[in-house]
Amino acid sequence: MNQQAACIFCRIERGDAPCALVYRDDRVLAFMDIQPVTRGHTLIVTREHFENVYDVSEQALVAVASLSRRLATAIREVIAPEGLRVVQLNGAAAGQTVFHYHMHLIPRTAGEPDRFHGRVTADSAELAAVAVQLEAALERSTVQSA
Ligand code: AMP
Ligand code: ZN
Repeated sequence: MNQQAACIFCRIERGDAPCALVYRDDRVLAFMDIQPVTRGHTLIVTREHFENVYDVSEQALVAVASLSRRLATAIREVIAPEGLRVVQLNGAAAGQTVFHYHMHLIPRTAGEPDRFHGRVTADSAELAAVAVQLEAALERSTVQSA
């Protein structure tokens, strides 16, 4: 099995593995992290397989950055967290565990555990419910800015 065939984010991109999808266009996907640090923890993932910040294409990088702001606004609307972490890890030493370029958006409240990874797999129905809310907030922002 080659690397892309085994990669969990490539499998999600192909529809071979499930996810709570929030957004998709020709360059990026956004879906709920399966082990969220907090409610609303979302990942933005390039549709093409790049390992990390060193090899991601310029176009994919721009698409991720652009969506990160739109999604941040949707998370602020739906979750209303005190703060929002926008995090991207490169290499095992930095904590990267899925070696396919992605960005985390992690809602945060002061005093919560200070980590980038959750420890418990979330209920898929709960993830789907948040995804639906975020998707709707993103769509509203698209209409407003059109
Ligand atoms: P990183 O450590 O930055 O590579 O983050 C990888 C993230 O992907 C972790 O937060 C995992 O919980 C998350 N993750 C792994 N598998 C899945 C999956 N099948 N669906 C959604 N999120 C996943
Ligand atoms: Zn991949």
